Amino acid sequence: MIRHENDVTNHRIMWLLIVQGLIANAAVNAGRPGSHPRRPLRVAVIAGVILAALPVGTVTGFSQGGLFGPSPRRDLEQGAEVAKLVEQQIGLYSMPKTEAYLREVGARLVAAANDPRWKFSFQIVDQSEPNAFAIPGGGIYVSRGLLALVNREDELAGVLAHEIAHVTQRHSARQQRKGILPGLLSLPGNLVGSVVDENLGALVNAPIATVGGAWLSRYSRGQESESDRIGIRTAAQAGYDPIALSEMLRRLEQDVASQTGEGRRFSIFDSHPMTETRLKDIQRRAAALTPATKPRVAPDSASLFAELEGMWWGENPEPGVFRTNQFLQPAIGFTLTFPEGWRHQNTPQYVISAHPKQEAVLLLGIAGAASDPEAVGQNFIEKMRTKARAEPVSTRKTSVGEFPAFVVTYLDRSGRASAYLHFAWVAMGGNTYQLIGLAAEADRETLRNAVLTLRPLTSVERGAITGKRLRIVAARRGERLENLGARSGNVWSPTYTALVNGLSVDTELPEGQPVKIAREERWTAKTGASR
Ligand SMILES: [Zn+2]
Repeated sequence: MIRHENDVTNHRIMWLLIVQGLIANAAVNAGRPGSHPRRPLRVAVIAGVILAALPVGTVTGFSQGGLFGPSPRRDLEQGAEVAKLVEQQIGLYSMPKTEAYLREVGARLVAAANDPRWKFSFQIVDQSEPNAFAIPGGGIYVSRGLLALVNREDELAGVLAHEIAHVTQRHSARQQRKGILPGLLSLPGNLVGSVVDENLGALVNAPIATVGGAWLSRYSRGQESESDRIGIRTAAQAGYDPIALSEMLRRLEQDVASQTGEGRRFSIFDSHPMTETRLKDIQRRAAALTPATKPRVAPDSASLFAELEGMWWGENPEPGVFRTNQFLQPAIGFTLTFPEGWRHQNTPQYVISAHPKQEAVLLLGIAGAASDPEAVGQNFIEKMRTKARAEPVSTRKTSVGEFPAFVVTYLDRSGRASAYLHFAWVAMGGNTYQLIGLAAEADRETLRNAVLTLRPLTSVERGAITGKRLRIVAARRGERLENLGARSGNVWSPTYTALVNGLSVDTELPEGQPVKIAREERWTAKTGASR
């Protein structure tokens, strides 16, 4: 949350999907009067569809490689679609100096890979988890979480070269078709038909991620070792130490292992399986390669760390933070308290909150610049009428605090329990907020109460929003990580600091050695995204 552009399109996609689901189901039930039992389209199913629909991608399988495979153009076209979804659903992280550095390292590897069929690009995804992935055609993404763990340019190069190899080898990533597909296929075929009419056929075919989460494609072991083999060769040709990939993978593994329990949602290993033999294979093959002699972009750790310094580590406060149920968005300046006990997810376009059993869901987004909520609502009703032949059961002009609002409700009676679909628009502080709630009648009040908590952030609240930033500290003579951390306000334990820096915890540090730490810092409009 929250980018303004494309918002309208995405809302449209989402509500069409929901509403057409309701209508299609109702129509089929109505058309078969003797058919029993009626298949109720339960709220839980719909909520599942919404949650799963948001992150859905268009990768219906990468084109298989080989001389006789489909033309590279197909990969490029698919890639362009997926790139949009990555931006909309995961979100890119903007930090110009780090992006420029990443691109420069990437460009050296692309030159070494020498495969002009693809259009490579290198971007940072706004994920705290360590992650890296490639999409068809050449889009390569690394997360903030992964960058924080890099200690040598060669390690980063190893990861990027591995992803480049997945692209050049046109590895067919098997999609884990969780969520939306089973849900939709259990519904009448005309739902998919109507979705396809809306050019959303691809949407139902292959989810790329859980909401805001991992790229769920998973390569086979064979593809993984092929990418390792080709990747380290590319890295060596570009002047990098090929063994660095195994060092990076080991650190990533340690990092993933250190984040046990609920904190760990996914990692690079969900898409790139690690096997016991994988590291050994890399080491064995790397030993046989002689890297070209070329200078690094960042020749030493001090210059490398300078490219990374200031990056948010862990939660990035810029797109908004949750403090228990309260969502606070410092950059746009608003807050909303979601129902207690619900599960939250902040994606670039929506803040999503769902009942733990998915019996109800509430989404918050920005529909555009501030305008008359009633006009926005009437426009929406008209679209629903023409595109989905749906009429609201109620419309209401109201207010949220001092701010004008308009609420439109649709009712789905096709299930055993009626489900309400509420749309609300609120004009506040230069924006029109759009809230979408789906719930049975019993939860209507819960939704209403949550919507009424929407208000501008106070300056005190805004000033209290903090996050952790990656900082670089030079060691003093004879210092150990524990002392260095204590004097520099490092929030990481000495053990974790050692892991991140590839050091052992009680090493006596050489004077002047740069060490990565994380410090709790206040979010400000100036330092929001970068520095
Ligand atoms: Zn891989």
